[in-house]
Formats: sequence, structure tokens, C-alpha cells
Amino acid sequence: KTRNGHEPEFIQAVQEVAETVIPYIAKNKIYNGKNILLRMVEPERLISFRVAWVDDEGEIHVNRGYRIQMNSAIGPYKGGLRFHPSVNASILKFLAFEQVFKNSLTTLPMGGGKGGSDFDPKGKSDDEVMRFCHAFMLELCRHIGPNTDVPAGDIGVGAREIGFLFGMYKKIRNEFTGVLTGKGLSWGGSKIRPEATGYGTVYFAQSMLKTKNETFEGKTVVISGSGNVAQYAAEKVIQLGGKVVTLSDSAGYIYDPEGINTEKLAFVMDLKNERRGRISEYTDKYKGSEYHKGKTPWEVKCDIALPCATQNELLVGDAKKLMANGCMCVVEGANMPCDADAVHAFHESKILFAPGKASNAGGVATSGLEMSQNSLRISWTREEVDERLRDIMEDIHDSCIEYGKEEDGFCNYVKGANIAGFVKVADAMLAQGVI
Ligand code: NDP
Repeated sequence: KTRNGHEPEFIQAVQEVAETVIPYIAKNKIYNGKNILLRMVEPERLISFRVAWVDDEGEIHVNRGYRIQMNSAIGPYKGGLRFHPSVNASILKFLAFEQVFKNSLTTLPMGGGKGGSDFDPKGKSDDEVMRFCHAFMLELCRHIGPNTDVPAGDIGVGAREIGFLFGMYKKIRNEFTGVLTGKGLSWGGSKIRPEATGYGTVYFAQSMLKTKNETFEGKTVVISGSGNVAQYAAEKVIQLGGKVVTLSDSAGYIYDPEGINTEKLAFVMDLKNERRGRISEYTDKYKGSEYHKGKTPWEVKCDIALPCATQNELLVGDAKKLMANGCMCVVEGANMPCDADAVHAFHESKILFAPGKASNAGGVATSGLEMSQNSLRISWTREEVDERLRDIMEDIHDSCIEYGKEEDGFCNYVKGANIAGFVKVADAMLAQGVI
């Protein structure tokens, strides 16, 4: 805390892990006296750099770029880039720290990292976004590579941005390698990558429901966000017979009592991905739906809640409202959307709750599969990738049960994910000595 006291999100993420991992270290002699956790909370490298770029009017802007290389004990650094005005070192360090555990859980050989910029792509022209991405990569290219650090997308960084970033990397290095994931299908991308985080979250939820002999069939599902993760989580829930009644963005949420079906979801995808509009426009198109400005969807009655927007978007009051309305399962599609008090409330009531580092790991897992395909210079079919994704999500669920099941049969998925993620990285760090 002395060293990172000014970084609240990072402290929050570390505290959550420490609560479950410190007792485990105490009970397991091989980790005693090695200061493993102390080493894990210090990034191996934190790079911060100036990104200067020119807008359409010829004015010069300066943003701050970052790459946090957190831990490479089990593989090259891997983790997304976030472009959002809220980006700072604390948020990226929390994300990079979580990423280390998440990547370890996927069973694939990937270390953890995260990066991005306080650049806001909202309201910028395609040309401005391109110039920013090119300027960002001019510096980032010195620090990444297919065997060193392989960034991907995150909030504000989708297919368009990955294309611009990849183009500049290729031009500078004069090589075509799998240095970024989330690429387009015709230039090294993997099938199912756009869908993977949302689908994976729902596959994980399916495994959790199975432990209670339940399925998505006929369940009312509340989803926040309307970006990449939210869209594909909604798609999979609909396929599994669930009824999705909400989506949101940073300005408010829409509620559709009849359910968002495939046709309505296609409208949302076009609205958000192509026209870059606001979710409130849904109510202009679909009468009978409601828009709740400035609110989050946790006040809506549901069986299952999937927070898929951003960190700390579901607080303890929201958790209580959800449970009072009968919600029996909360699965994080976003990173740390539920704050610590909300998570404690779910645990006290013993409802099903999964932390993002386990339930949203499908995205990075499929990025790992993209890296494998790039190295082998082959392309697996949609079915092959989807099958692997399902298997990985099931394996992660099994690991959570192995380390998280308590004496009364309740599974603490937070504890399970933290310990399972920790063990693999800690063992590699022990084997590699004090570095
Ligand atoms: P997108 O940029 O595609 O979408 C983000 C969504 O969240 C948008 O609807 C956005 O609304 C909303 N949002 C952003 N900031 C806020 C805020 N402060 N309050 C309320 N809503 C907000 O991002 P993704 O869908 O890719 O990412 C969503 C979450 O999932 C993030 O936590 C990310 O780290 C996590 N994640 C993503 C993965 C991926 O593969 N994409 C992998 C693993 C985790 P608006 O349009 O108004 O900004």
C-alpha cells in the first residue's frame, strides 16, 4: 500500500487476490518465505510514452500511452489495449494483474500484460483514429513481438483499431507475424475471436448452472454494456433459450420486456459497431421498450445477471436489489464490474457468483488459439475453435471447483480462480529463481 497507495483500482484487485491466496501460501510450505506475492504485484516493466497526433483540422494533440508488462513466468506477455479517457496507471495495473491469473487459468502458455491510452475514440473520424493508432504503434513496436508481448483489443479497441495498429507494426518491422490478436479473418485472425469473450462467459455460466441442475432455458437475463462482450453474451443466451431483457452504455440502459431477439440484437450490433450510435436509439425502433437514462440495469427483475460493461459498475446496493428480486446467478463478463462489497454480499447469500478472471477468460484463450494458428500458419474452422473454447471454459470451471469448493459444498469461485491461477505462475517463478 505504501508504494501503490495512489492507485485505488490496483489496490482493490490485489486485496481481493491476497484475501484468498495469503491463507493458501501459509498452508503450503513450498511458497513460504519466498515473497512470491510481493514479486507478483510489482510489474516486470511499466512503459509510459507520449503519443502526438494530428486531427482533421490540423491541430496537434498529445495523449499518454502505456504498456504494462506484468509477468512473463509462463509465457510472453498477453493482454488487451484500452483506449478510454479514464485510462491511467492504476486501472491498467489492476487489469494487468488480473490478466496474469486469467491467462494462467486458460491452461495456455501466456504471461500477463495490459496497455492503452487516455485517447477517446468517441466522436473521432476514421482518419483521426488511424493517425492515433499509427502514432501509438510507432513507440509500442519497440516493446512487443510475437515471442515477447502480444497485445489485443479491449474497451475502445476493436477490429478497426487492431487493423491500424497491425498495419503500422508490419510497415516498421517489415514482417508479417502474429504480434497482435483480434486481427481480421483474411489477415491472420481466428474464427470465433470476436464472439469468444461473450460466448465463453455464457459457457462458464452454463457449467455453474449445471451444478444446480439448471439451464438458461426460460431464464430472464439482465446484461449491461452493448459492446463486444455484451453483444455476444446476449447472442449465446438467446441461442440457449434465455430471455435477454436489458443492454446498456455509459449513458443509461434499455429494458425490453418482450426480450431482445436475434433480429433486435442485429439492430444493436449495427447501431454500435457500424453507426457508433447510442443504445437509447433502441427505443425509437422498438416500441414497448423503455430507456432509463443515467441508470444501470440491476433494478430489473431477473434470474441471471451478466455485467459486461466496465469495472465497478455493480455496487453492494445493486447486489442487494438483484438478490431481493430473485437473481440466483451473477457471472462477470467485464473485468471487476462488481466491487468487493457486492462480491461479499453474493458470497454471504451463497448465490452463484463468478469473477471475470475465470468467466471472461474465453477471449484471451481464443487469442492464444489465434497465436497458435499464426505460428503454425493454419486456420481452424469455426467449429474447431468453438469446441476448444468450450473445453477451456469447462477446464477453468473444474479448476475453480477444485480449489474453491468449501466444506458445505458451496463453491467460492473467487477463491478457486485466484488459487488455481496463482499456483501455476508461482511454481514457474520458483523454478526460475529470484529474477
Ligand atoms: P467495448 O468498448 O466493446 O464496450 C464497452 C461497453 O461498456 C460499451 O457499451 C460502453 O458504453 C460501456 N461502458 C464503458 N465505460 C462505461 C462506464 N464507465 N459506465 C458504464 N458503461 C460503460 O468493450 P468490450 O465489450 O470489449 O469490454 C467490456 C468489458 O469486458 C471490459 O471490462 C473489458 O476489460 C472486458 N473484457 C473484454 C474482453 C474482450 O475480448 N473484448 C476480454 C475480457 C474482458 P459506451 O459506448 O457509452 O462507452
